Amino acid sequence: MTHQPPIPTLTAADPDIAGLVEDEARRQAEKIRLIASENYVSQAVLEATGTVLTNKYSEGYAGKRYYEGQQVIDRLEAVAIERAKSLFGADHANVQPYSGSPANLAAYFAFAQPGDTVLGMGLPAGGHLTHGASVSITGKWFNAVQYGVRKETGRVDFDQVRDLAKEHRPKLIIAGGTAIPRTIDFPAFAEIAREVGAVLVADISHIAGLIAGGAHPSPVGHAQVVTTTTHKTLRGPRGAMILTDAEHAKAIDKAVFPGLQGGPHNHTTAAIAVALGEAAKPEFRDYAHAVVANAKALAAALTERGFDLVSGGTDNHLLLVDLTSKQIAGKPAAKALDRAGIELNFNTVPFDPRKPFDPSGIRLGTAAITTRGLTPEHQPQIAEWMDRAIAAAAAEDEASIDKIAGEVRDLLTAYPIPGYRA
Ligand SMILES: *Cc1c(COP(=O)(O)O)cnc(C)c1O
Repeated sequence: MTHQPPIPTLTAADPDIAGLVEDEARRQAEKIRLIASENYVSQAVLEATGTVLTNKYSEGYAGKRYYEGQQVIDRLEAVAIERAKSLFGADHANVQPYSGSPANLAAYFAFAQPGDTVLGMGLPAGGHLTHGASVSITGKWFNAVQYGVRKETGRVDFDQVRDLAKEHRPKLIIAGGTAIPRTIDFPAFAEIAREVGAVLVADISHIAGLIAGGAHPSPVGHAQVVTTTTHKTLRGPRGAMILTDAEHAKAIDKAVFPGLQGGPHNHTTAAIAVALGEAAKPEFRDYAHAVVANAKALAAALTERGFDLVSGGTDNHLLLVDLTSKQIAGKPAAKALDRAGIELNFNTVPFDPRKPFDPSGIRLGTAAITTRGLTPEHQPQIAEWMDRAIAAAAAEDEASIDKIAGEVRDLLTAYPIPGYRA
């Protein structure tokens, strides 16, 4: 048995599922995880998610629940809320959203009506589906206007944001995204939102851990509403939170419950509280800065090997690489890298001439490799493996790809992950 905590009862009761859990634990341990939205939670967070808290229904909020027996859950949720408020310096926190997408939907539901105009970052430029993409409910049920980045710099075009805001008068402006390698200028968004009377929603899903650790400026005080997942750089369980100022607190709480959801997932609430406790420790500040140092080192090493980075580098945990100069598309590169033990995702780049399911780029992040202890000194080696694997893919040289996978496994044996013991 290799999964941690061990799963002997599951193994006896349902070997099929236990086997899959074990296989996934091994896979996670043996690969270099460069998926920018992923991380490894601590053993304590893992344990919290696997508790009897999953048995309890607790629709409502502390003191105003719709089922009895909330003596403990009320205390638990209060701890999670206090830790969230204190870590981010927010007036109010709602820790019930099931995940990042419903958290964003709650912001729409709280402050806009169907058909109202919202302004978010376009998907091809690095926005999230829930920022008004045409295939998302947020693009279908709202009049979504989309801003992008400047072609020359790969950075948000604030002239365009202001022009669109003045022309379309959105109810909501959404700052943030899923493929933004540069610092988000929350004060600039706030100024535009003020000019047009829009509610500013900062979606910090990717960078919440960096903000908590002081490695990225905070939107608190600039955005009235801050949504975030808890499972990316923040290194908690899959889940989400919404932070607000005092004025917007009630509308958000009503939108989450009863507007959008039923009972909160209390085992997740517990794990979020544990993760927030970890993020408040001094070590987490070191972690957040180490994530950025690793990303900058990886960016430098890739640039040296002729990789073309959108915006020319990174300020955070994330890199977006345009592979056009390497004469390979994002998807075949990502698949070859996965076989070589380097896990990431294909991604559109701004102004991508290719289609979203077969785009020109790949996206990388350093949150997970930093958790397992890799440092800037390892980044030239990772860049070298990536370069070799991509060349091998172009040459259909599977033997070379297998060889890299072995080298990756060898390195990683010295950097165990929580959740797996070899
Ligand atoms: C990941 C992400 C989301 C969605 O989170 P899910 O938990 O996958 O629903 C929303 N917004 C941004 C910016 C994200 O990066």
